[in-house]
Amino acid sequence: MTVTERPGTPTFTDGFLVSSSPATGAEVGRVAVTDPDDVRAAVATARAASTWWAGLGFGGRRARLLAWRALIVQRLDEITDLMHRENGKPTDDAMLELLITVHHLDWAAKKAAKVLGPRRVPSGMLSSNIAASLEYQPLGVVGVIGPWNYPVFTPMGSIAYALAAGNAVVFKPSEYTPLVGKWLIDTFAEVVPEYPVFTGIFGGGETGAALTAAGVDKIAFTGSTATGKKIMAAAANTLTPVLIECGGKDPLLVDADADLDAAAEAAVWSGMSNGGQTCIGTERIYVHEAVYEPFLAKLTATAKAVTPGEAVDAAYGPATMPSQLDVIRRHVDDALARGGTAVVGGAESVSGPFVGPVVLTDVPEDSAAVQEETFGPTLTVSKVRDMDEAVERANATSYGLGASVFSKRRGIELARRIRSGMTAVNSVLSFAGVAALPFGGVGDSGFGRIHGEDGLREFTRPKSIARQRYPLPMSIYSFGRTDKTNALLIRSMRLLYGRGAPKR
Ligand code: NDP
Repeated sequence: MTVTERPGTPTFTDGFLVSSSPATGAEVGRVAVTDPDDVRAAVATARAASTWWAGLGFGGRRARLLAWRALIVQRLDEITDLMHRENGKPTDDAMLELLITVHHLDWAAKKAAKVLGPRRVPSGMLSSNIAASLEYQPLGVVGVIGPWNYPVFTPMGSIAYALAAGNAVVFKPSEYTPLVGKWLIDTFAEVVPEYPVFTGIFGGGETGAALTAAGVDKIAFTGSTATGKKIMAAAANTLTPVLIECGGKDPLLVDADADLDAAAEAAVWSGMSNGGQTCIGTERIYVHEAVYEPFLAKLTATAKAVTPGEAVDAAYGPATMPSQLDVIRRHVDDALARGGTAVVGGAESVSGPFVGPVVLTDVPEDSAAVQEETFGPTLTVSKVRDMDEAVERANATSYGLGASVFSKRRGIELARRIRSGMTAVNSVLSFAGVAALPFGGVGDSGFGRIHGEDGLREFTRPKSIARQRYPLPMSIYSFGRTDKTNALLIRSMRLLYGRGAPKR
């Protein structure tokens, strides 16, 4: 079967992007493709709207965003059904995605004033006559390029925070989930009908590329590392700042004193829910040798009970992006060819579009299944002699997005040592549901942060204002500075900052 014959592959017909179900291939709907001129026009229109939106102030924006939040919740059945049809995920998973999303929207709307609004900062002794204040102003227009795996939660991590900070947003949803993206845009327009503050452009990668070149003030991208690099290179031409949220190869560590039932259950859910198409989902497990055998027994028993399907209440749905099946198959085949053992499923599990759970042991650390993002319901499990080795191996990929640690005594210590943006202790993925916690990666997982105070500031520029309250008898910032003033400054510098140097 070629890629284009696979259900769910988007097609372009007569200027329309046709979206189809990855489970059945049935058309879900279509949207008009935005050509590059219209992309530029959308950004120009959004710029005008951004002035009005910024002018509403924190209070005005908060009221609108909370109304949007309530509208999304009111229409929960509509959007979860659409997510099921277009992305393939079970409706319960879509509901969970929506719950976390509206939690973030609520938080961003309510916290923006406190985090970003004007505040006095200490001016220091040298500037005792200065009233110093700091505020975070919106950038203007933010371009958001989103993925298909969490078609609401992931782009909304940028959209909600950028809007709350006072920006207009032009959103390019993935070509695999354009209708979910359009639904978000349409519902927002119901609560903000005056100006196109949040608009959409639709199409394939070239539409995203056009957005990057259309004069936006920032690009927030979520997707593959390869595309993230292309976007960053393109944005460099105009010095447009970028936020890059790419994939991961998230490890889960199981210590000798861990609750093995909890760890096994969490590992299977983290690795296999959403068909493994979770950027912060577990892909690799490192287990202390003292508990390796009992943990593996629990893990395999749990994983074997998981069955994907088309039903709204299946454990998980199909691979949303059909070409991903080739990646999953390559990783599993390579792992088996290099001495790995499939203790759950195997090569035959990747017949698509519903990939069965696969658990692999004895996979060499330098193989694709351990080093590259698989984005399928697969887990590799490796025995380690101690937790130092677990940390060392966990840190030995180019990625650094999320991680998990199961340990009764050393959870926080191990969490700190893992090279990742976020680590959950005795749980999985839990950091994503805490609105106050910033979300983002290191290395090939990207940089910049959505969520939390950092996520609000990401879509702003700091504005520093120093107001002179009264002139000092001696002026520092002047050609008129006297020798006497210079001598006083030197004395002050020695007194304030000159002590504590190593003795010579
Ligand atoms: P991409 O990185 O290709 O796509 C992500 C988004 O970027 C989509 O909206 C895409 O548009 C757009 N895009 C593609 N090319 C360009 C470009 N040159 N300029 C601007 N925008 C562009 O990811 P894929 O969807 O192809 O998935 C590939 C792999 O990425 C997956 O196998 C997975 O490993 C990883 N991934 C990680 C995600 C995460 O959450 N971190 C999410 C999705 C994927 P379009 O869809 O229309 O091509």
